[in-house]
Amino acid sequence: MAAVKLKAVRKVYSNGHVGVEGASFDIADGELLVLVGPSGCGKSTLLRLIAGLEEATSGSIHIGDRDVTYLEPRDRDIAMVFQSYALYPHMTVRENLGFGLKLRGHSEAEVADRVRDAAERLELGSMLDRLPKQLSGGQRQRVALGRALVRHPQVFLLDEPLSNLDAKLRSAMRTEIARLHRSLKTTMVYVTHDQVEAMTLGQRIVVLDRGIVQQIDTPMAIYERPVNLFVAGFLGNPAMNFFRGVLHAAPMGQAILKGEGAELPVPGGLPTGRAVVVGVRPEDLHRVDGATPPGNIRLSVLVDLIETVGNEAFIHASVGAWRVIVRSSPYHLPPLGSTITLQVAPDRLHFFDAQSEERLAHS
Ligand code: ADP
Repeated sequence: MAAVKLKAVRKVYSNGHVGVEGASFDIADGELLVLVGPSGCGKSTLLRLIAGLEEATSGSIHIGDRDVTYLEPRDRDIAMVFQSYALYPHMTVRENLGFGLKLRGHSEAEVADRVRDAAERLELGSMLDRLPKQLSGGQRQRVALGRALVRHPQVFLLDEPLSNLDAKLRSAMRTEIARLHRSLKTTMVYVTHDQVEAMTLGQRIVVLDRGIVQQIDTPMAIYERPVNLFVAGFLGNPAMNFFRGVLHAAPMGQAILKGEGAELPVPGGLPTGRAVVVGVRPEDLHRVDGATPPGNIRLSVLVDLIETVGNEAFIHASVGAWRVIVRSSPYHLPPLGSTITLQVAPDRLHFFDAQSEERLAHS
């Protein structure tokens, strides 16, 4: 087990494309850290840099107390699991699991021991004599995990390992990986574009965009206080609602956000005359049933679409140029074309500068 330390890591590809820019962060010993972001944001590049499959253009990477920046992958004491299982088709599960260890010169007894332990942890015990083609997708991915496990590496690197699985299997495997991490307590870096995977698996999450680290924190800290519009819009499904407008002064130190054909009263404290984006998560908007608690903010919107997904419903509505999605109970839904009044607690509003897109501190 070991901590991983990245200092100002930069990767420029030979065609001049900057894959990763100025990545500096630490992964604690035994931590499960998730790198998340949209396709092409540089998460695989970052993982491959840690693995040694790409060489950093500048900056340094430490694993434990060793500077591994220029070490070959095999000398870094890491094990990688990819989206494609890449199992040897003509070898049994047992042989697939043990092959890498044999190549490295481990004794037969040691190989058998480690294979048995990995098979037990991954519930592959009854499948050791099968060929990969006799396994389901989920079982194959478990063998791929097992092949990393038997190495006893200091760090596990997982690149979208569940992408090939269907939704149900994905969530089952996600739980297995979380359990595995808890029992092994080995440092893991996990790459995914899937925000649900990131939120549920990561002890901390690194959100990347265009090769640049946007925010690093626990999932809930990021969800509650996204540092900019990109992060605010990326985490959360349905995504955070964004109301664009200009702040105007209102009586009693309050302010009002005026957008195209829409207005929202907001707490004072930010300079007026400023173009901002006010963010509200769909679950923080509540339909008004009678009186609203004092201090809550109201917004009337026109309902144009409702999606019901069994345990909940998403009400799509608009006011002026603002689009709104409200997470709601699936019962007693309003008719399409009706106007409903929503309320939100002032401390559930997020403010961002319209130009820089950075979060604004507000009183
Ligand atoms: P992600 O894993 O987040 O989808 P990648 O790390 O694979 O993204 O890629 C980041 C960016 O670098 C992308 O724009 C991609 O096209 C580019 N890229 C990746 N590999 C190479 C390469 N070998 N040469 C040039 N550009 C590359």
